[in-house]
Amino acid sequence: ATPTALMVGTGRGAQLGVLIRGPEVLESTLRADTIVLDKTGTVTTGEMTLQDVAAAPGEDRDEVLRLAGALESASEHPVARAISRAAAGAAARSAEELPTVAQFANREGLGVRGVVDGHAVLVGRPRLLSSCSQPLPTALAEVAREAEAAGRTAVAVSWDGRARGVLTIADVVKPTSAAAIRELRGLGLRPVLLTGDNATVAANVAAEVGIAPDDVIAEVLPEGKIEVVRQLQAANRVVAMVGDGVNDAAALAQADLGLAMGTGTDVAIEASDLTLVSGDLMAAVDAIRLARRTLGTIQ
Ligand code: ADP
Ligand code: MG
Repeated sequence: ATPTALMVGTGRGAQLGVLIRGPEVLESTLRADTIVLDKTGTVTTGEMTLQDVAAAPGEDRDEVLRLAGALESASEHPVARAISRAAAGAAARSAEELPTVAQFANREGLGVRGVVDGHAVLVGRPRLLSSCSQPLPTALAEVAREAEAAGRTAVAVSWDGRARGVLTIADVVKPTSAAAIRELRGLGLRPVLLTGDNATVAANVAAEVGIAPDDVIAEVLPEGKIEVVRQLQAANRVVAMVGDGVNDAAALAQADLGLAMGTGTDVAIEASDLTLVSGDLMAAVDAIRLARRTLGTIQ
């Protein structure tokens, strides 16, 4: 490889909105046969919005949103931002401020806990609450089930040891994701959707962007994502992975070719070989094409 050809490659890469860590990266773009795509923030915009608030019998919906929103203000997760934004809006409309949070703790890929207004509040996957012996009452479990069947994410809210509400969150697929995934296939890469979100939501997103049901891996905890990459590698697949770094930086680093969404976290960018400045899957297509073409010119 001549440095000049590589310079051309990386220079054009910068124009296309792709930052390449170094020349050794180009080689992996030729060998990769599988591309693992993180769902939230990669295939979807990650700009989630709150659609609905349901309260358990005898509970107040406004209070469910207020305590959950206050707690989520301490988290960067797209789900958390949807909840805290809606709660801050509601508070501002009644000229109030959200209460502050004490003893905040994040359970990656599950949810958050902390003390708000003297209450021990828990917000996260319904599974997180049931594992803390706070199962959803029947009416709320039904709301969560329906939300997930409709492709939404259900987030449960409890305080002082009792489940009090369910928030329904919607995420949208990026407009370019389906076309980009088609092109990635054309480049010989088999797409795999990987997510911590529930299986129904994952299946809906996969169907929308053209990923086969067998290539959907859902409800994977953050530490499990690296394991998924390792297993694919153990099956002799050469794995590219695209993520935003919210819970997937270790998996990005494990992949043979890690691609970070430029809109993602700094850890993602540090853990990756290629950074897609635009935060768009089409940039992954451009990056792989450009890298392969660059190699073509120097071999
Ligand atoms: P993905 O793999 O799609 O990027 P994550 O692994 O980050 O998703 O999260 C998996 C699931 O955990 C989310 O869909 C959400 O249900 C739940 N979750 C994670 N963080 C939070 C949070 N701060 N508040 C509520 N729920 C959360
Ligand atoms: Mg993510």
